[in-house]
Amino acid sequence: MTRDAGGTPEAGGLFWWRRDVRPGVTVAFTRARAGNLAFHVGSDDDAVRRSREGLAAAAGVAGFRFMSQVHGADAVWADDAGSAPTADALLSRGEPLAVMVADCVPVILAGSFADGSPAFAAVHAGRPGLAAGVVPEAVARLRAAGAAGLAAWLGPSICGGCYEVPAALREEVEAAVPGTAATTSWGTPALDLPAGVLRQLEAEGVPAHTDAAACTYEEHALYSHRRAPGEGRFAGLVWSHA
Ligand SMILES: [Zn+2]
Repeated sequence: MTRDAGGTPEAGGLFWWRRDVRPGVTVAFTRARAGNLAFHVGSDDDAVRRSREGLAAAAGVAGFRFMSQVHGADAVWADDAGSAPTADALLSRGEPLAVMVADCVPVILAGSFADGSPAFAAVHAGRPGLAAGVVPEAVARLRAAGAAGLAAWLGPSICGGCYEVPAALREEVEAAVPGTAATTSWGTPALDLPAGVLRQLEAEGVPAHTDAAACTYEEHALYSHRRAPGEGRFAGLVWSHA
């Protein structure tokens, strides 16, 4: 399956989906061909460094800012901390951002500040982070700083038909984020993480775009922790350009 519909076709490229979402702002999601982008899994550090450099070159930026992701609900400004602050939402005023995933939902937020400069967030919405409210937290932090006109782009993640969980866990997450309870295609309890993200964005009044979405577990052009643990992480990206 190729899911370039609506985005820029990337024949042989690094991106699963890429689009100029507004003048001077691009959102993209990488594919496995772009390489593993996480230091904590799979390939050696040099390979990760080369993959990240290749991505920056393809985007025409000096480099993307990554987080040290811990399945929490903290949002931090990219310029506040070191090169990889511990957080699950990274915020910026135009600095290029990245979020690493392999089944969790990558969420990119883009809007603008009163002076016209871009407002960005890259959010890691896995099961614990979703339940802890990392998505509304990122929205709130950007708005508190004056951002307006926010919209969201959801990238590929494991789907509700594939993400099997124990029944008790399904109930627990459904209680925290209504709309997430689901059933696998084989009839067992499951969670639909993107459905939960969409509910939260709707509650915040943030329009969401889902045409980059796909199931990581079913689509082998993407990394899936459930299907192939330790193979790698792909990324959701946002950057600005002239
Ligand atoms: Zn699926």
